[in-house]
Amino acid sequence: MALHHRTPRHARHPRHPPYPDQPDLGVALPVTHFPDHTSPPRATYQAIHDELMLDGNSMQNLATFCTTFTEPEVSALMADCVDKNMIDKDEYPQTAEIEARCVRLLADLWNAPDGGTAIGCSTTGSSEAAMLGGLALKWRWRARRAAAGKASDKPNIVTGPVQVCWHKFARYFDVELREVPLDGERLLLTPETVLARCDENTIGVVPTLGVTFTCQYEPVAAIAAALDDLQARTGLDIPMHVDAASGGFIAPFMAPDLPWDFRLGRVKSINASGHKFGLAPLGVGWAMWRTREDLPEDLMFHVNYLGGDMPTFALNFSRPGGEIVCQYYNFTRLGREGYHAILARSAKIATEIARGLAATKLFRIIHDGSEALPAICWTIAEHAEPGFTLYDLADRLRMRGWQVPAYTMPANRTDLVVQRILVRHGFTEDLGEQLLADIRAALIYFSTHPMKISTKDQYRQHFSHSGR
Ligand SMILES: *Cc1c(COP(=O)(O)O)cnc(C)c1O
Repeated sequence: MALHHRTPRHARHPRHPPYPDQPDLGVALPVTHFPDHTSPPRATYQAIHDELMLDGNSMQNLATFCTTFTEPEVSALMADCVDKNMIDKDEYPQTAEIEARCVRLLADLWNAPDGGTAIGCSTTGSSEAAMLGGLALKWRWRARRAAAGKASDKPNIVTGPVQVCWHKFARYFDVELREVPLDGERLLLTPETVLARCDENTIGVVPTLGVTFTCQYEPVAAIAAALDDLQARTGLDIPMHVDAASGGFIAPFMAPDLPWDFRLGRVKSINASGHKFGLAPLGVGWAMWRTREDLPEDLMFHVNYLGGDMPTFALNFSRPGGEIVCQYYNFTRLGREGYHAILARSAKIATEIARGLAATKLFRIIHDGSEALPAICWTIAEHAEPGFTLYDLADRLRMRGWQVPAYTMPANRTDLVVQRILVRHGFTEDLGEQLLADIRAALIYFSTHPMKISTKDQYRQHFSHSGR
């Protein structure tokens, strides 16, 4: 609902209502003390609405992976669902049915075995889904150890450069994180680096389909093959969980022949963010297990209000139902065809921006968006002396409203500063050209006003915004 009347700026600390005939307009927004009195709804709305205009413009936020474009029908469904608590499955059985349909559709999309018993649930996002996936790995490993009469006090998990949720999982649930360090030009996991860190205490290996730092896919199938080989040689059977936060809603449409999902027998579970390339509004993720046996029974709480069996496995209790309903809207509205069309357009825009950046000769493109995520990741070219850092470029672009984060890579490449753009649904060819024009204008500015570039150490100390 748009309210066109603007509250004058001084309404934050009104001493006198601005118009004698509209005393309601003088709303003081509380900042430090809980207000004593009521305020009229329309004026309160307007005052808060006006403050929200100080936030950045989400269309120009090229740092985020999350949905920033929604159809009006999505807003309408969100409003329809504002009172729906997805945990009340007896109260809102149709919302629960819609969640169950989404799980079945995703099991199909991710190639769960035909006639199998894939099982899944919605979550608040990939972070919660990753915790659940990690917990299932830990529980199953502990059961295997107990059955073999062996100790289970030193679990570890092997990953590449992971999103912070896996650091949280490891710390919150007391698991050693063996995050393979980067090495030179190797910015992803490889089968060899995985095998070198696996042992009998490894609860699982977690490759990422769409690495936060570079937007590339880790080689899931090659890692699975290496773990198959390890099992054949040593008997050690180590499961995989794929963090497909972004890739889970990209690979099925853009690279349907790439096996990264349940087509690989070793992949026991997957997480994905509905609110990233799933295009749902913020607040929904998905966790899925290959079979019922992959999700330990004692982590689940069963709800049978529906006659069927609705397992619940979650960290949250109450959660809004609207995002799940809107996820279902997207699946129905877009289908494989629609997701493909949106992603193909985004990928084309990304590669055009990458080409424009490369043409300046100042940058080395690490990821150009032609495969994996529709995104660009770049650094300063090897022998270029551009007279600015990527942090300077980020600052300069911010003056035009663009948010293009510059950040350092994880260990052992914290010396490598990169910059990254996500091209998402709603970002147009026209905006891409405008962005490139603004980048070129910034380069011209720096060529006439070079920045004082200090030592690499100071460069590194610069506050980094990874925008993950
Ligand atoms: C975004 C992201 C996460 C965290 O997902 P949320 O939905 O924001 O909780 C985890 N892993 C990867 C690879 C991501 O890109």
